[in-house]
Amino acid sequence: MYRSHDCGALRMEHIGREVTLSGWVDTSRDLGGTTFIDLRDRYGITQLVFDMEANAELCEQARKLGREYVVQAIGVVRERYNKNPNRATGDIEIDVRSLQVLNASKTPPFTIEEDTDGGEDLRMKYRYLDLRRENVQSNIIFRHRLGLETRKYLSDHAFIEVETPVLIKSTPEGARDFVVPSRMNPGQFYALPQSPQTFKQLLMVSGFDRYFQIVKCFRDEDLRADRQPEFTQIDCEMSFVTQDEILATFEGLTKHLFKSIKGIDLPDFPRMNYDEAMSKYGSDKPDTRFDMTFVELNDLVKDKGFNVFDQAELVVGICAKGIADAYSNKDLKALTEWVQRPQIGAKGLVYAKLNTDGSIKSTVGKFYTDEDIRQWAELMNAEDGDILFILSGEAEKTRKQLGELRLELGSRLGLRKADDFKPLWVVDFPLLEWDEDTERFYAMHHPFTSPKKADISRMLDGDHETMKSLRADAYDLVINGVEIGGGSIRIHDRALQAKNFKLLGFTPEEAEEQFGFLMGAFEYGAPPHGGIAFGFDRLCAVLNGQNSIRDFIAFPKNNMGRDVMIDAPGRIDDVQLSELSLRLDIKDQ
Ligand code: ASP
Repeated sequence: MYRSHDCGALRMEHIGREVTLSGWVDTSRDLGGTTFIDLRDRYGITQLVFDMEANAELCEQARKLGREYVVQAIGVVRERYNKNPNRATGDIEIDVRSLQVLNASKTPPFTIEEDTDGGEDLRMKYRYLDLRRENVQSNIIFRHRLGLETRKYLSDHAFIEVETPVLIKSTPEGARDFVVPSRMNPGQFYALPQSPQTFKQLLMVSGFDRYFQIVKCFRDEDLRADRQPEFTQIDCEMSFVTQDEILATFEGLTKHLFKSIKGIDLPDFPRMNYDEAMSKYGSDKPDTRFDMTFVELNDLVKDKGFNVFDQAELVVGICAKGIADAYSNKDLKALTEWVQRPQIGAKGLVYAKLNTDGSIKSTVGKFYTDEDIRQWAELMNAEDGDILFILSGEAEKTRKQLGELRLELGSRLGLRKADDFKPLWVVDFPLLEWDEDTERFYAMHHPFTSPKKADISRMLDGDHETMKSLRADAYDLVINGVEIGGGSIRIHDRALQAKNFKLLGFTPEEAEEQFGFLMGAFEYGAPPHGGIAFGFDRLCAVLNGQNSIRDFIAFPKNNMGRDVMIDAPGRIDDVQLSELSLRLDIKDQ
């Protein structure tokens, strides 16, 4: 028997018992007559004590143990003199009677503790050691619990978990596909699924009625901190449902997860339509933990000789409360430079400081009197002590820029608290998005999303301009400015699906070749259906008030999509290449 207890189990009630523990040497302290070793495993840390006087040989043996050695200790539980209230096992220690080294360890390249001295690259290369750190391990355990509670809730609501294939056909769904060459079909490729979208719809045609899957999805995108080439979704689909029923079901899931895992009772989620989100927050995933909503100033600012505002399609501002005294000219200059960075791209930033002494200082004092600015302030519900920040230009771009500034100010002012959770549904997305550069429509959600019932006839008969105004039964769940999930009611009618593909620029032949299986299935009694998918990794991060999903993935990839531990992707040899009928054109570098 390797152990009678784990390293987090022993308490005062075990005093006097002989126990066997196994684990890793976390730290050791040699105080001359006594050696202390903290023994660690997944469950906790227990202090082992070796006394020179009682057993010199054993004590010598203990002194030689290096960090991360794997050892087994047999001893008797006793009360500690110096109790450690920060540790569950802090009242006791083990008076060790025998010790066995189960495996030695090289000195690890970084310390196995929360505040490790290892940088990101090193930790990723030795991820198996990084995963020994308690804070990293607890993220992975958290993820396990989240999966368990998800399965519990969905099973209780009659959902069935069905696995869908990973080797599928390349289809356009927004991102690039990862492809896999087929040995048995020379020159042909599978693609890895960006999501099980079409399969889950087919399961509805089959009558499964409620499907879910906690499933890996693959998208070959340029990576950002919150993106991974492979990530996990809680993917769901339901038949005979309205949008309201889907939202109720998944609001229920979200509440269940917050309650069961965080002990938080979330109130009912507000709903905001897409247009309102864009015009008030400049984003379809607004962070509603704080106000600072947009106020449009077009009617007040025109024709006063300020060219920039006169020529702008939109002049829009936000009011930052109570910061006039704290924000110096230098701070404001820094903020102006911040919005001018290429990532944000604003030309400049107009501000008006409503000083607490009643005076006003603005960057546009030449064109606008204090009286004018008081009018803006009134519209923006501003008082003395506030600063108004105003951007102008082309409407859509300006809203996005102001949205970024709003988030930045929210962060700087401490208004985005990690333990404050503000979920909402964003609904009524446009069906299609017109792209000026490529002069074509793109599906705002994906090509299987249904227009609203009221818009179906306009979609079938309308002209080009009409298409821009079509609304979809599509919705996103947003928490604290992060898109947690998105879904839609689907098209289940062949003719409407064909029309949608046509609008998206597919020829009938292309549509048939790529999605004939789905449109064919719609001809065999497809029920009305809809669904949603949550980003599982993101949900883990948001529930923990963290930004990076990487911390919640056991073996994540880096910014270049590489796994630096196993060193993938890598070359394959010529034999493999020729079996796959592939020839590389890349010269050795
Ligand atoms: N398949 C969609 C996605 O991955 C989600 C859905 O519409 O259910 O975003």
